[in-house]
Amino acid sequence: WLRPGDAGYNAEAAYNAACVVGLVRAGDGLAARQLLNEPGVRQVLLDHERLLSTIGEPGGLAYLEREAGKWPCPECRNDRVVRTVVDRQAQYRLCPACNGNPGPSLSDDAVILQLRLEARLLHGVQRSWAAQLAADHGLPLDDPDADELSKVLGFDSRAFIFKDGGWYREDGTQPGPISPFAPKPAEGEAPPGDTKPETPATTPEETASG
Ligand SMILES: [Zn+2]
Repeated sequence: WLRPGDAGYNAEAAYNAACVVGLVRAGDGLAARQLLNEPGVRQVLLDHERLLSTIGEPGGLAYLEREAGKWPCPECRNDRVVRTVVDRQAQYRLCPACNGNPGPSLSDDAVILQLRLEARLLHGVQRSWAAQLAADHGLPLDDPDADELSKVLGFDSRAFIFKDGGWYREDGTQPGPISPFAPKPAEGEAPPGDTKPETPATTPEETASG
């Protein structure tokens, strides 16, 4: 149900839609409501709202509109502190309504879903050079070793001779299970399947490399 591409969206509407998500999260409901009224923003959010749900449910736009209407904090107007006068002295204490942290309370999963939506709307910042530099200082990609790859995929790259319905190594032995998930043989015990074939002599006519 997710659209394969966002090419049809106005870049400004997509940017504003991403900003709405962040502003609502920060409790800046006034700015979020202003951006929601910019052209195309609601439509972009409506088309992507299922990204805000772990199971792809709709309702994301309604949620953002609802939360944008609740904030700023009715008690401190996002000042995070409230002023009281005690003995003619002004005192400040943490806002009891928002606990100094305006915006909806979100689980870690909900924050991740919002960041995923924002990344999507901003055309996948994780694909940019700048994002890679920020994440890992531009480390080169891992160059997989062919031997390591064969272990991960669960086959023995040295067993390239197909004979009598099975794969054999050049020395005539047959590989045992080498899947990383296969049970490890007990110490001193030959791995199962890692046995010498009954006819060790291998003539070129019988082999076919694979
Ligand atoms: Zn408050």
